[in-house]
Amino acid sequence: MTKDDCIFCQIASGHIQATVLYQDDDVVAFEDLHPQAPVHFLVIPKKHIATLDDVTADDSDLLGKMLFAATEVAREKGIGATGYRQVINCRASGGQVVFHLHLHIMGGRDMGAMG
Ligand code: AMP
Ligand code: ZN
Repeated sequence: MTKDDCIFCQIASGHIQATVLYQDDDVVAFEDLHPQAPVHFLVIPKKHIATLDDVTADDSDLLGKMLFAATEVAREKGIGATGYRQVINCRASGGQVVFHLHLHIMGGRDMGAMG
């Protein structure tokens, strides 16, 4: 399932250029256009899922694949040992701007405590 008006669907299909770090049949990892940390990349499912609130039990494996791809790329980027933050913003109150599910991975500096 893809949406013509969805920027991340177009990145997943190769119609919009991005700096792709990893991809397989199910997920794509690419550099965030406006990095908030020295390392900041996104992992998306190739399938269009608008928000984390839209996932179903059928998406459990896909969510696991997103997490695993993120950890693999984080290791390749050299931040596995020092650590990093993973964030999924969900809908308006979560600060979501692009409505295609995406996992942020940010590191390369001290991200600080959340509380
Ligand atoms: P969110 O606020 O969680 O929806 O985050 C959306 C993220 O997508 C932001 O960090 C943007 O910098 C990033 N972004 C938007 N357009 C692109 C693009 N074409 N390529 C890479 N990252 C993008
Ligand atoms: Zn999409």
